[in-house]
Amino acid sequence: MLPELATLREVQGFDIRIAGCDRELARVPGALEAIDAEIEAARSHVQAVEGELRQTEAERRHAETELEEAEASVDKYGDQLLGARTNEEYKGLQQQIASTRTRIGTIEDRILVLMERSDELETKLADRKRTFGERSTVLEAQKTEIRSRAREQEEKRNQLRERRSASFARLSEEIAARYERLRGARRGIAVAPVREDRCSACNVRLRPQLVEEIHAGHSIHACESCARIVFFEEEPVSKSA
Ligand SMILES: [Zn+2]
Repeated sequence: MLPELATLREVQGFDIRIAGCDRELARVPGALEAIDAEIEAARSHVQAVEGELRQTEAERRHAETELEEAEASVDKYGDQLLGARTNEEYKGLQQQIASTRTRIGTIEDRILVLMERSDELETKLADRKRTFGERSTVLEAQKTEIRSRAREQEEKRNQLRERRSASFARLSEEIAARYERLRGARRGIAVAPVREDRCSACNVRLRPQLVEEIHAGHSIHACESCARIVFFEEEPVSKSA
C-alpha cells in the first residue's frame, strides 16, 4: 500500500475514534441532569411528607388551643353558675356547660385523630428518608462514575488528537486538504475500504477497471459515486484460513 494511503487510513481511524469520544462526552451533561432530576424527585417525596406532617402538627396545636379555651369557658360558666340569681340564668349556664363539654369531646377526638396521623406520617417520613438516602447514595455513585469515565474519555481524546496531528502532518498539503474537504462533506468519513467490489461507505459498485487499479495500488483512487478515497483491506484472517 502507498505510504500516504496508509497514513490516510491512520488519520481516518483516529478521526472515527475521536468522533466516538465526542459522542460519548456529548451524552455526559444529559446523563448527569437526568440523575439530578431523579435525586430531586426523590427529595420532593420526602418534602411532601414533611409538609403534610407540619400541617398536621399545626392543626393539632390549633385544636389544643381551642380545647384550652373551651375548658376555660366551662370553668367560667361554673363560676357564674355559683352566682346565678334566677332559675332561667342557672339553666342557661348549665346548657352552655353541656354544649361546651360536647364540643370538648369533639375536639379531643380530633386531637387523637391528628396524633395518630402524625405518628403515621413520622413512620412514613422515616421510611422515605431512608429510601432517599439509599437511592441518592446509588445515584451520587453513578454521577461519580460518569464523571470519571468522562475524564478518561477526555484524556483518551487528547491522546488521539495528538496522534492524529502527528499522522496528519505526514500527508502532503494536497491530500490533507482533500481529506478534510471530504470529511466535512461526507459525515466524517473520507476514506473507506472496498468490500465485494463496492465502496463500503456509499455501497455503489465500482467499475472493474477501477477495482483493478485500486488493487494495483500505484496511486490514490476515489469512489466515482461519493468521491471518498477507497482502498483494499487485507483479507481477514478468517477468510484466508
Ligand atoms: Zn462511495
